[in-house]
Amino acid sequence: MQDNSRTGGIVETDEPPGERLNISTVSHQKKTGPYIHRVPSQLWNDWRWQMLNRIRSIPELLKRFPGLNCSSDLERVASVYPMAITPYYASLIRRLDTSDPVFAMSVPQPAELCDPPFLSPDPLGEEKKMPVPGLVHRYPDRALVMATTMCAMYCRHCTRKRVAGSKESFIGASELARIVDYIRSTPAIKDVIISGGDPFTLPIDILERIIASVRSVPSVEIIRIGTRTPVVLPQRITSELTAMLRKYHPLWINTHFNHPVEITPESAAACARISDAGIPMGNQTVLLRGINDDPAIMEELCRGLVRMRVRPYYLFQCDLVKGVEHFRTPLRRGLEIMEYLRGRVSGLAIPTFVVDAPGGAGKIPLLPRYIVDHQPTFTELRNAEHRRVQYPEPATGHPSDGPHSPEA
Ligand code: SF4
Repeated sequence: MQDNSRTGGIVETDEPPGERLNISTVSHQKKTGPYIHRVPSQLWNDWRWQMLNRIRSIPELLKRFPGLNCSSDLERVASVYPMAITPYYASLIRRLDTSDPVFAMSVPQPAELCDPPFLSPDPLGEEKKMPVPGLVHRYPDRALVMATTMCAMYCRHCTRKRVAGSKESFIGASELARIVDYIRSTPAIKDVIISGGDPFTLPIDILERIIASVRSVPSVEIIRIGTRTPVVLPQRITSELTAMLRKYHPLWINTHFNHPVEITPESAAACARISDAGIPMGNQTVLLRGINDDPAIMEELCRGLVRMRVRPYYLFQCDLVKGVEHFRTPLRRGLEIMEYLRGRVSGLAIPTFVVDAPGGAGKIPLLPRYIVDHQPTFTELRNAEHRRVQYPEPATGHPSDGPHSPEA
């Protein structure tokens, strides 16, 4: 057995050290984790092997983490909300309890079955905004294609727990045709998000068929893809994949890093491959209790993201979805984090804190209060250090002020 510190976990290999690949450089994760898997590096670096060897059951989890003290409830939780953890992501686990962020985001917990009554399976009302199966149309200029119900890893905090992993399938040809017909007949849709599940779990020909079909609609200006594979399955970002994607520009990718421990040489290299294909990357973090609801952790995450050329885009308040109550934080905590970041890191590294309002009311951005007073002739503001300043309004007012403007 050899300690292969490329992932920080124990990846036992059959090969002599000289043949092991690229992985002895996880600077912030020198310590070996409890994950055990004996596999040649060549397989380890193959995304298909990673997918085939996901941890899908509690007995498998115990096999890979012999030291794990497993509650008997976990089988029940996993039967309600499926589990899948790639060997790569499992190898990032350092402690076998919820004090470990990767463990907490990937291993089922009994708390998932303790729901207050105001939670629902579909708090954003997506099912009601599906003009055709597999397409959510919530905003006039945007639509979301649910390309698959499969993900490489089933995040315990997922907002689509009702579909992710329920049965691992993807949209068929007739479903795709109906989706494309709808987009074609709705020219107000300029921006199509291909999501799921995780579309990068699909074979490349199926993925290309979906992207090419959407791109064939002249009124679609941009395509965005939502994927967590750079975080949980970075091996998926192959040169074959990026060569295919770059044919369909303008194309953007949003990924989902939640904690700095997810920033590894492998995930950084995956993001670099995407950026090098000319695809801008954004990141959507979910604010999670006990995982990243700490200003210093969020600062480290945001700084790490921009170092990888990934723009922190949204910081989401956890949705009111069944099975995630134990991850929810008070709104106040998100505002405290935003207050902490502003003035400390570049605006480029600061995401927009949003609540995706229940009942399909859309995203509402939340900011600390920077306007102290608003008068016709001046507005009193305060900066990140709480210094107050008066900003004089233009003497001529503005036409939008109407008849009560100072000029009128
Ligand atoms: S990758 Fe996205 S869709 Fe899949 S389980 Fe995680 S949050 Fe949900």
